[in-house]
Amino acid sequence: MTQATLDTALQSLDTANFTSLACKECGEEYPAAATHVCEFCFGPLEVKYDYEKIKQKVSRETIEAGPNSIWRYKEFLPVATDNPIDVGTGMTPLLRANRLARRLGLKELYIKNDAVNMPTLSFKDRVVSVALTRAKELGFSTVSCASTGNLANSTAAIAPMPD
Ligand SMILES: [Zn+2]
Repeated sequence: MTQATLDTALQSLDTANFTSLACKECGEEYPAAATHVCEFCFGPLEVKYDYEKIKQKVSRETIEAGPNSIWRYKEFLPVATDNPIDVGTGMTPLLRANRLARRLGLKELYIKNDAVNMPTLSFKDRVVSVALTRAKELGFSTVSCASTGNLANSTAAIAPMPD
């Protein structure tokens, strides 16, 4: 990581609802910058959120007033920008599953149909929209991924990163 990228990452924290990254395995903390695994144990890194800050910003009304996409939940996502890459990802329907509910002994059961996500009809559109928005705000102009299929498809579809 370059110093410029780290500086950009740290500047974005002024408006962000997250403070740092932490290793899920050993707890080591890192700046909220482009770091993919723990340098000590190779464990995955998780975003640490400022829930008090989120509580002050978010209400049912602010969420309902948001765009018709995952970006209405922006305050819960690890991005600082007010200009996310919004290609209509999210807002997929819940389907009532009466027979499965009966079989499981439940009164009601709904299944989220992410097979109608945009733009590639994959749940991967969610993570790619968020990851590329963060990559863009950190100053990256090129992205890549290791994939067996739908992640690469989603990355290719969203990567042009329109403004
Ligand atoms: Zn670790």
